[in-house]
Amino acid sequence: QGHPAFDVNAVRRDFPILAERVNGKPLAWFDNAATTHKPQAVIDRLAYFYAHENSNIHRAAHELAARATDAYEGARNKVARFLGAAGPNEIIFVRGATEAINLVAQTFGQQCIGAGDEIIVSHLEHHANIVPWQQLAAEKGARLRVIPVDDSGQILLDDYAKLLNPRTRLVAVTQVSNALGTVTPVADIVAMAHRVGARVLVDGAQAVSHMRVDVQALDADFYVFSGHKVFGPTGIGVVYGKADLLAQLPPWQGGGNMIADVTFERTVYHAPPTRFEAGTGNIADAVGLGAALDYLERLGLDNVAYYETALLDYATAHLRAIPGVRLIGTARDKASVASFVLAGYQTEEVGKALNQEGIAVRTGHHCAQPILRRFGVEATVRPSFAFYNTCEEIDRMIAVVRRLAGARR
Ligand code: PMP
Repeated sequence: QGHPAFDVNAVRRDFPILAERVNGKPLAWFDNAATTHKPQAVIDRLAYFYAHENSNIHRAAHELAARATDAYEGARNKVARFLGAAGPNEIIFVRGATEAINLVAQTFGQQCIGAGDEIIVSHLEHHANIVPWQQLAAEKGARLRVIPVDDSGQILLDDYAKLLNPRTRLVAVTQVSNALGTVTPVADIVAMAHRVGARVLVDGAQAVSHMRVDVQALDADFYVFSGHKVFGPTGIGVVYGKADLLAQLPPWQGGGNMIADVTFERTVYHAPPTRFEAGTGNIADAVGLGAALDYLERLGLDNVAYYETALLDYATAHLRAIPGVRLIGTARDKASVASFVLAGYQTEEVGKALNQEGIAVRTGHHCAQPILRRFGVEATVRPSFAFYNTCEEIDRMIAVVRRLAGARR
């Protein structure tokens, strides 16, 4: 199982938390869609920053300010390379994917979306990619429209084509569903939107840790993700925006750092990305994110994708064979997530039984209520895998679910 170049046991030793025990059992972390663990390289990089480089950036001409600025801007370069952006000026640091989407809604959305305009999202979206657009639509008198999915949880491109029209200003769509694991055809979605002159925001929160992403190949106008879901720290995330597009946008928050010159009569703003980074940013965690992306690139995203596909196929086949298990989300193209419900059990009961064995899964609605309701459920059990998981861990999960299924029959 796995790729010849991929030694999972060596990889696991890079993650100190994987040696934890929970309820006397080895921890099996299947909650990667909620957040991922940090390799020692990231933990060390954060400690090194605070021990040797800590300073505010840009403002002071002294040695530590120079070190901190180099580390922060170095991280921006790493993110730009990781996403295949044209340059670091296309990368804005924010708190996470949620803040990233709100930033785009309150800059691009405020400027370009008006009464009678239309915003398209998919039925798969996380609440973070629904609510900001709903709020903007209500404020502007715009209309929110929804791309339906088929019974496997895949986007229906023909229905999407029918929604597109000259009033469409923005399409906001996820690359990987956090609740179902569906990998959506984002390149097609972008191309179709551009034909009617609409811009596209791609929510990459669940994609970047599982597959190679190239924003220029996708031709995405905006691409967002969270550091903590890609083996980096919490509190740091990214907005990618095409340079020419960012240059036309108004600032977001006002304050220090984002200005070129201030008088009481007027303010001249900096060019992007600084225009969108008011105040002191999350310097250390940006640097930590850079270390996480370096780590991931050393592993190789193609190796990761290959190994994880084998894990997901293994888990899916074994879950499907258990009487009473219903898989939610059966699209051909999936990443990481195996959502299911078990007849006769609340999802929390399954989660508790797994936790008893040291196995961490999320249960509930996963901040994606519309797509679960599309399948007639309010909650699922959601194991979500990363490259440091193993088939032995999956066997432990399957044994618990099988035991529960047997006890109810
Ligand atoms: N979009 C998707 C697809 C997600 O899975 C998540 C996190 N569950 C978010 C957006 C929001 O990310 P954050 O909570 O890190 O801002």
